[in-house]
Amino acid sequence: MKKRLFLYTLLIIFIALLGFFAASVYVTYTDNISLAKETVAETTQICAGLYTDNTDVSSFVQVGGDTRITIVAPDGTVLADSSQVDVRTLENHLHRPEIQAAAKGSPTAYVRHSGTLGVDLIYYALKVKSGDSYVFIRTAIPVARVDAYLYRSLPLLVFLLFLVALLSFFFIRGVVNRVVTPFGSVEQKLRLLANGKYKPNPVAGSYEEIDEITRNIDNIAFVLQKSINDLRDEKSKLDYIINNIGDGLFVVNENKSITLINSAALDIFNVQSDMLSKNLHYLSYDKSLANSIEDCVSLAKSSLFELTRNGNIYLVSVKRLPDNKLTMVVLSDVTENRENAKRREQFFANASHELKTPLTAIKGFNELAALNNKDENIRQYLDRITRETDRMMWLIGDMLKLSELENTKGINPVAVSLAKIVSEARETVSASIKEKAIIFETAGDGIVTAEPRHVYELIKNIIENAVRYNNQGGKISVKIESGQKAVQLTVSDNGIGISPKEQTRIFERFYRVEKSRSQRNGGTGLGLSIVKHICVLYNWKLLLKSKLSSGTEITVIFGTH
Ligand code: ADP
Repeated sequence: MKKRLFLYTLLIIFIALLGFFAASVYVTYTDNISLAKETVAETTQICAGLYTDNTDVSSFVQVGGDTRITIVAPDGTVLADSSQVDVRTLENHLHRPEIQAAAKGSPTAYVRHSGTLGVDLIYYALKVKSGDSYVFIRTAIPVARVDAYLYRSLPLLVFLLFLVALLSFFFIRGVVNRVVTPFGSVEQKLRLLANGKYKPNPVAGSYEEIDEITRNIDNIAFVLQKSINDLRDEKSKLDYIINNIGDGLFVVNENKSITLINSAALDIFNVQSDMLSKNLHYLSYDKSLANSIEDCVSLAKSSLFELTRNGNIYLVSVKRLPDNKLTMVVLSDVTENRENAKRREQFFANASHELKTPLTAIKGFNELAALNNKDENIRQYLDRITRETDRMMWLIGDMLKLSELENTKGINPVAVSLAKIVSEARETVSASIKEKAIIFETAGDGIVTAEPRHVYELIKNIIENAVRYNNQGGKISVKIESGQKAVQLTVSDNGIGISPKEQTRIFERFYRVEKSRSQRNGGTGLGLSIVKHICVLYNWKLLLKSKLSSGTEITVIFGTH
């Protein structure tokens, strides 16, 4: 800026100086011409004063020097001329402007090119009496004489021009320095501000406007510093949280470069800390991870899957962050959960097995005791023991079924008719149907590929519930639809229904909406868990629709066969 300001100012001053120089040359020149015109006029008047009737015109014009004198007759004929030409060869001068002006009585000086001498001359003529007539006396001096005056004064003018230019140069340099220096300090402040190193420092300078700018910079610096500090605090808090959560977390951008990674994630993938801006493959070559990140980056598709690394199981969630193109990956270590679940399942299976044997013995001995005992009171107790052991036997039976389903490694599927299984299941609850006077309707059939005992357990549990939670004189309808893609079974009842809050929980193990009623009706709390497990095993879809006091509809969509 300083250089440019200096050059511009210098250029303006130079242009002004040159203009001034040209104007002075012009004014001097025109001034000299005017002076020369006056001189010509005075010379002509002197000549006119010297002219008499007896003057010999030829010798009169011989004045020497570069002044030209011409005597012209009234008809324009040149009578004598101081130039060395033969006057007879000269053309008529009557129409020369200076002669015309003299003839009209208003003599005027004219600058013209002389055809005779081949130079520019300043002419002036006077009408002078000669006997009874008159003549024109004309004098002329060369313009070159005026130019000579100018050329003489030109070196001085040029010298002055350069002197003023030199002085201007130093003067402008000084002024520019003085004007620009405060801007330099503003610029320095702004640079420090941009680098975050500026400390507010309100010093009054020599310019009010610059002081105002400095004051504003101080204000901006203060606000900026505060915002930066706040942001730094927030960031360090966030960094602390991110690096201290147990879950591994990293974020990739649309080019799959890592933009954030916490220490747990570095540990999981066993990599160094300089992972930022590096491509995802520096972190892991795992295909499922790479594919789900690719799906999320290009299609914004979220996913949840398990990943095993160094003997640990991680639940991986891949999600697109809202409002930008970043993909966040969270890895939660679920190894312990999985082991606990396995241990629980094991305990469940073991306990069921261990209970089954003594219970069978109790049941046997109880029946034996009932046979040999005639005492009515004791028989009542023994009947009660029978009912309770039966209930416990069902419970253990359900528990064993569930743990068997959980530990199923392989299945031997065959084609199974759903209508046939429905009719078998109905048979097992026929006594309750009769007791409650329930209308039971079945429609359609379909073939599914599965183990018959699994299909039986599934349908039996759903139908049992439809009867168990139905009202006296209620209705149950079983509909089997066989489509091109899937077979569908729907069991609907107009019983007590399930509230929306309970609907999400009834598939949990041992969950019962109303414990006492369920127990009274012979439920174990495991029926729908078994149903769910069978569906999971075969990848069938299980749908529930229910309205409290209106009824329930359970649909199973069996896969293609
Ligand atoms: P339970 O052995 O207690 O019937 P389930 O697992 O089969 O256990 O069912 C869980 C709970 O879901 C039941 O206790 C019952 O409250 C509710 N439920 C299941 N089926 C129906 C139905 N058709 N109508 C109303 N409630 C039902």
